[in-house]
Amino acid sequence: MLKNWNYEALDEEKLEQLCRRPRMDEADITRAVQDIIDDVRTNGDEAVLRLTEKFDGVRPDPLLRDVRKPDDIPVDDDVRKAFELAWHNLYQFHKAQIPQSIEVQTMPGVICRRESRPVASVGLYIPGGTAPLPSTTLMLGVPATLAGSSYKIIATPPDKNGGPPVEVELAAALAGIPRIYLAGGAQAIAAMAWGTKSIRKVDKVFGPGNQFVTTAKMLLQNSEAMVSMDLPAGPSEVMVVADENADPDFIATDLLSQAEHGEDSQVVLVTVGDMGPERIREAVERHLQQLPRADITRKALNHSFSVSTANMDQALEIVNRYAPEHLILQVDQPEAYTVGIQHAGSVFLGPWTPESVGDYASGTNHTLPTYGYARMYSGVSVDSFLKHITFQQLSREGLEAIGPAVMKMAEVEHLDAHKNAVDIRLKADNPARGSY
Ligand code: NAD
Repeated sequence: MLKNWNYEALDEEKLEQLCRRPRMDEADITRAVQDIIDDVRTNGDEAVLRLTEKFDGVRPDPLLRDVRKPDDIPVDDDVRKAFELAWHNLYQFHKAQIPQSIEVQTMPGVICRRESRPVASVGLYIPGGTAPLPSTTLMLGVPATLAGSSYKIIATPPDKNGGPPVEVELAAALAGIPRIYLAGGAQAIAAMAWGTKSIRKVDKVFGPGNQFVTTAKMLLQNSEAMVSMDLPAGPSEVMVVADENADPDFIATDLLSQAEHGEDSQVVLVTVGDMGPERIREAVERHLQQLPRADITRKALNHSFSVSTANMDQALEIVNRYAPEHLILQVDQPEAYTVGIQHAGSVFLGPWTPESVGDYASGTNHTLPTYGYARMYSGVSVDSFLKHITFQQLSREGLEAIGPAVMKMAEVEHLDAHKNAVDIRLKADNPARGSY
């Protein structure tokens, strides 16, 4: 468990290999997922029902459910309060992300403006194979509603009674999502991307999931389905950087909190200076024995690892190469190192910031890029549900100022019609011509 490497002994090739994620046989998964997509495209809800019965063991009837009002959903009071608190914090942090439109006069008489508009119809995938994730419902639902998407639907695997997990329904109600489609895996993604008799085709699909889900997203965004996807959010991962003053129990519980997500999760410990990995390994073993999901967790730990480094420069080198979904800095003065973090999904600073707070309720989003995609993707935010339209308007004086350059560039590209569209205006003798 957590095989340890010494940074000084790692050559380039080994570093590269360590930072690559463990993967299942992709060719097999891709074939299986493509078959599911084709089946759903051809047979719609009937295929979804058949596949749900096969993989989830129930046949939900009906497949599509209306979400009740929050007060009509039977959950314990303390559960309701916890979800309301999380909703409140997420709402605040995401509301602040709504962009202002910008307007710039690039030269006299030439005005450029950018305004945002919501992606009109969105499908939100809420994982539920190993455990229902109502928290993900808030993470996707809150920014979707704030962005103003008009058609919003959730897809999630049904519970063993064939209905929506009640906490997922509560989170949907709080976030303002009116409908739940009771399907999981690749079949759910395909149904949202192509549409079926019971649900509309959406413009963009969001949400994390296992390899069937992420493969379906990858395949569909490159297909004729005309659908876009949020980001590659696959099996969860965390990297903890700990110096000699960090508490081994804190670190162990942080590592285990991600390892328990699924056997394909990966956790990485980077120790700095005198903090040897042995003390933490002992704490991990001790806490692991108390966990109900110890079997899954141990499998995840078996393909996880630790690296001992001499200083924070070395530790940050590992961080930026690995580009973790979650990064925890349990080191003295963590703020001093944030500027050195180039690639990470979300960062947790100091001993009192366990990764669990970001998973649930601090206000940041937990749908984050995994597999090292934090190098080029951000986590989900209000911006993920928006697109931007640019506008420009010129006065006659503006066109006179810019026109010669535009005509010259059109000439260089041999695009005469482009040149003429400017030329004809500049030669117009009546300045009022074409004005409204
Ligand atoms: P899931 O909902 O992603 O997948 C369950 C579905 O997989 C089932 O409904 C079933 O239809 C399908 N499936 C199962 N076995 C199959 C098979 N053999 N062939 C075809 N389809 C099959 O739920 P999960 O499995 O619990 O996975 C959730 C994942 O989401 C975990 O890996 C977790 O780490 C990840 N996650 C990531 C983030 C993030 O932000 N990156 C957040 C939360 C969860």
